[in-house]
Amino acid sequence: MSAADLVEQPETGITPGVEKGGFRDVLAPDHARRGKPPLHFVDMSHAERITSVQALGLPKFRVQQLANHYFNHLSTDSRTYSDFPAAKREEAAQQFFPNLITEVTRQVADNGTTIKTLWELFDGSRIESVLMRYTKRTTLCISSQVGCGMGCPFCATGQLGLTRNMSTGEILEQVRAAAVMMRDGQVAGGPGRLSNVVFMGMGEPMGNYKSVLAAVRQMSELPPAGFGISARSITISTVGVVPGIRKLTQEGLPVRLAVSLHAPSDKLRDELVPMNRRFNTTQVLDAAHDYYLSSKRRVSIEYALMRGINDQAEHAQLLAKRLNHYGDNWVHVNPIPLNPIEGSRWTASKPEDEQQFLEILHRAGITATLRDTRGSDIDGACGQLAAKMTKQA
Ligand code: SAH
Ligand code: SF4
Repeated sequence: MSAADLVEQPETGITPGVEKGGFRDVLAPDHARRGKPPLHFVDMSHAERITSVQALGLPKFRVQQLANHYFNHLSTDSRTYSDFPAAKREEAAQQFFPNLITEVTRQVADNGTTIKTLWELFDGSRIESVLMRYTKRTTLCISSQVGCGMGCPFCATGQLGLTRNMSTGEILEQVRAAAVMMRDGQVAGGPGRLSNVVFMGMGEPMGNYKSVLAAVRQMSELPPAGFGISARSITISTVGVVPGIRKLTQEGLPVRLAVSLHAPSDKLRDELVPMNRRFNTTQVLDAAHDYYLSSKRRVSIEYALMRGINDQAEHAQLLAKRLNHYGDNWVHVNPIPLNPIEGSRWTASKPEDEQQFLEILHRAGITATLRDTRGSDIDGACGQLAAKMTKQA
């Protein structure tokens, strides 16, 4: 075994050295040197939970009570565990609910309806999540990896490279924290409920498939098995990791799939999305359409508009043609005004080009809505989540 074999490889299913422009994750200098986060209740199977409860000298029905405290009451504070033997409360909470994410800063925008939180993980890694309250829904944008290895040049997270995958516990704790903020009225508009979750923060969810799926299941199951956020209100956004899309199709969960296309041709997408050299636009769109057929859920096509690069009439026309090739009403296109990142040569489109892009799609019978840029003044918008204050280990 060589030293390279000892380094844990990211779980993308992408092998290095494939025929056409082999792709491999861009790793951060500190990749995989950080060990694993402490095991949390949500990282364990039911059998593991029972074994651990019994190891504490408790009967197995206590697992259900712990699940109830976590998923129903959103509580990891042993002082609230009044149904638990007093002598074991603290030990149980420490064992099952280790503190996995610690708030570093909280930035507020849009009159208190957008909150971006910077979190520190057990190893000093930093990640972010953004909570956005709208009239009829409240959406949390979460991270699934520390950094990202996909190398999209216009994305702030992509510039960091991949440090490591996040555990199911680290992913779900972002959700619990946001659910608490909503319940306790910490977001402008009074107490409410977290209704939607999108995997559009840091990281490529398909690069961390197992942990992401376990998190999705526990978000969507009804309490006390999960947080009770409908799977239909959860969006997994991918750069186009085809084996991941195919695996997700097999799961049969009604989650929404978003595919970050950004270009209608391979020639252009090869430049904007390095992963396209591994899975091209035809493979990605085929997989996305199969997802639609099997889930009956419309797929979102994400398309960051970059001035003079992918935002011209010819691009919109080709995009419409490629999507209509598969039939009607199976996609919804989300053109996103580019959030320029420091040191990047790309800028946002002119407003008239954005409008023209939308009109061409509409005329071709494709539904498309310009994504709002909530939180852009606090770097909370898409692609700007780079955890600027990243602490070196
Ligand atoms: N890795 C996944 C999910 C996280 S990125 C993915 O790429 O889909 C979430 C969304 O933000 C993606 O659609 C991504 O392409 C987009 N994005 C990245 N950088 C951006 C930027 N600078 N401006 C606007 N959107 C950006
Ligand atoms: Fe990673 Fe998505 Fe950013 Fe690409 S756009 S680098 S896949 S987070």
